[in-house]
Amino acid sequence: MRIITDDRCTGYFHPGHPERPERISATLEKLRRQTEVPITWSKPGPCAAAAILRAHTRELLVRLTVPEDFDPDTPFFPNIADYARASIGAALEALKAALAGETVFSLMRPPGHHATRNRAMGFCYLNNIAVAALEALANGTRRVAVFDFDVHHGNGTEAILLNQPGAAFFSIHQFPCYPGTGTRNVGANCFNFPVLPQTSRAEYRQVLTSALEHLQTFKPDLVAVSAGFDCYARDPLAQGSLEPEDFYWLGQSIRNLGVPTFSLLEGGYSSDLPDLILTYLRGLEGK
Ligand SMILES: [Zn+2]
Repeated sequence: MRIITDDRCTGYFHPGHPERPERISATLEKLRRQTEVPITWSKPGPCAAAAILRAHTRELLVRLTVPEDFDPDTPFFPNIADYARASIGAALEALKAALAGETVFSLMRPPGHHATRNRAMGFCYLNNIAVAALEALANGTRRVAVFDFDVHHGNGTEAILLNQPGAAFFSIHQFPCYPGTGTRNVGANCFNFPVLPQTSRAEYRQVLTSALEHLQTFKPDLVAVSAGFDCYARDPLAQGSLEPEDFYWLGQSIRNLGVPTFSLLEGGYSSDLPDLILTYLRGLEGK
């Protein structure tokens, strides 16, 4: 298992904000202490402007340097553009490792799946997974599926990949919930699987299974996973119902797709996040 991470991702915080550096630092501690999953550690790779500009406007890159909050959830931080670029650099490094046949997880922040082409929102500044998916397509991967199991709809990824040849997007998320989108399929390639708040665990698993089955009919050559752990039963930000063993099952199911995959951390705000991530990694690793 290759884990891509960097000190830069814990370099900014806003007092009281749930998307906090401890999400990563506590997970790092847990992963360094455990012996079940052998880990190779890597740093984020470079992040070329051209790769970002496939997914985002120049206006957004300029906006990231203007010291004003983006919305009440998404504060401005000095150098946030650099933190967001490092997170993309990690996504691109994860893509490279996946294509080389490795099992890989990017343990970085900020997350990305709410960032649209021209807007930072929902704790996200640049869309890591969309940039990586477009990079893969630009470099000869023919069919890329993004599988997003964060409890929130990946509205930004959907907006960027909408009707993009070779790409398909599958999102399983709570509705009603932030950001209020994802109630139906959109365009030719974006498939949404909304679940009601407090949906039973068995039913939630069934919806995830349907989404994975649908994804397989797309016959992807590569699967990029927006791994959000806020669909956990005890997450403070939503009313999901998944238990730790469901994240093991998710990892195992993604491994069983039998194609190269890479996973990027999106949400997950409970104090159990380190255990949930380790459980997911064990599933991915087949341990
Ligand atoms: Zn989320």
